[in-house]
Amino acid sequence: MSVKQQQSKEAALEESGVESPLYAARAKIYPQSVHGRFRQIKWAILIVTLGIYYFLPFIRWDRGPDEPSQAVLVDLAHRRFYFFFIEIWPQEFYYITGLLIIAAFALFLMNAVAGRLWCGYLCPQTVWTDLFMLVERWIEGDRRERMLKAQQSLTVEIFAEKLLKHSTWLFIAWWTGGAWVLYFADAPTLVMQLITFHGEPVAYIWIAILTFTTYFLAGHMREQVCTYMCPWPRIQAALTDEWALNVTYRYDRGEPRGSLKKGEALRSTGETAGDCIDCYQCVHVCPTGVDIRDGLQIDCIQCGLCIDACDTVMERVGRPTGLIGYDTEMNVQRRLQGLASLPARIIRARTLLYTVLIVGVGSFMLYTLLTRSELGVSVLHDRNPLFVRMSDGSIRNGFTIRVTNKAATSRDFHLAVQGIDGGQIDSPPLPHDENGRVIINVGTDQTAEVRVLVTVPKDLAQHLADHDDHAGQDKSIDIKFRLSDPDTRSYVAASDHFFTP
Ligand code: SF4
Ligand code: SF4
Repeated sequence: MSVKQQQSKEAALEESGVESPLYAARAKIYPQSVHGRFRQIKWAILIVTLGIYYFLPFIRWDRGPDEPSQAVLVDLAHRRFYFFFIEIWPQEFYYITGLLIIAAFALFLMNAVAGRLWCGYLCPQTVWTDLFMLVERWIEGDRRERMLKAQQSLTVEIFAEKLLKHSTWLFIAWWTGGAWVLYFADAPTLVMQLITFHGEPVAYIWIAILTFTTYFLAGHMREQVCTYMCPWPRIQAALTDEWALNVTYRYDRGEPRGSLKKGEALRSTGETAGDCIDCYQCVHVCPTGVDIRDGLQIDCIQCGLCIDACDTVMERVGRPTGLIGYDTEMNVQRRLQGLASLPARIIRARTLLYTVLIVGVGSFMLYTLLTRSELGVSVLHDRNPLFVRMSDGSIRNGFTIRVTNKAATSRDFHLAVQGIDGGQIDSPPLPHDENGRVIINVGTDQTAEVRVLVTVPKDLAQHLADHDDHAGQDKSIDIKFRLSDPDTRSYVAASDHFFTP
């Protein structure tokens, strides 16, 4: 059953008062090719986005010796994420959270400005489906030919076309999966490993998963992903307002619709005739099978292709273009009341709010990124025993210190203990500097874990214990480990406690 037949059946059921069933079998859609401004924009976006996706892993970025030279790399083995000059460590995962927040607000902003811009032009499901449809058209022909072939019995020619189509789809899907795993290892090396069957099994598994999902979702599921599986249309519908631009059929211009002949006849007698000639071109090019003349619908991904189709028809019949175009619900309502359209209001409270939030979060992330320290320290006190009394009466506490060097050079850090005058810090067999600080060497872009002992002499330990007894507090005092880089004069500190008997 075609989309049109299904819609007519539902309308008939509604009119007769019988509730339409909750389940309807999928009506296969045969989108027709279309030419025009929005089609061109979509092709350009498709080329740019897929070009970035497939070739980005091969772009090199020099970070110095012993560092990965891939511009964008998720290095799971060393728990790092590289993006050109930015390197994210696991403890800096909040940057990813910040990016996700920016992405969410960017989506809200797009929605407030022009509806489902993401869905219609940028969503991977849309982009890959567009590519798969292009392959389908090249091999099996345009809408009319495909519909005819669907009704014919299987011939050798039809079988060969199907085989070629599915093989090409699988090849694109396999290429897509292959490109995905290249983001997780050095791309040229991994390509050689995969070709010679020396790659890690996990790489082949991920390629197989991505191949299947791309082939299935873009080749077979198509508009059903947008209509049934994706939550964004529902969220988007709740977020939109009457000032958001949406692909809109201009009822006031189009109705009453009718054939070209009928319209001309009505006009010649001075009667009113709409510009819509009911040619269904807007429906035939729609990748989701929507009739935009029925108003805003959740199935419409706002791709703008029906605008191109209708503009072509309008040019052909000598009527002004723009019968379908980006317009606001506010203007639709105004024109229905006989009022003039208002200019689009892109700048309004919600668009300003989203912009401020995006700029605010982005600026904060940029500031913290540019001013972040290239060294880090964390400390963990020994759990058992909390302290050790030495034979000479001094008290010793043990700690595990983790030192992080995010710089592209190996560095000697100096570690001192603060808050406990007279305390001595050691980490055998590491050396001390002239001020008694432990010298810790950490290689390029690495972390080092050292065991550190802090000791206070007997008389000082007794003084601390008396002080704590007097104060009625825990038998511990606050201390700080100060890690400094003598070359850059930068430092960081981590707090802990020194326990006494
Ligand atoms: S109705 Fe128009 S804008 Fe909406 S999905 Fe179909 S072609 Fe795209
Ligand atoms: S393409 Fe334009 S003229 Fe043709 S049916 Fe759609 S709205 Fe009417």
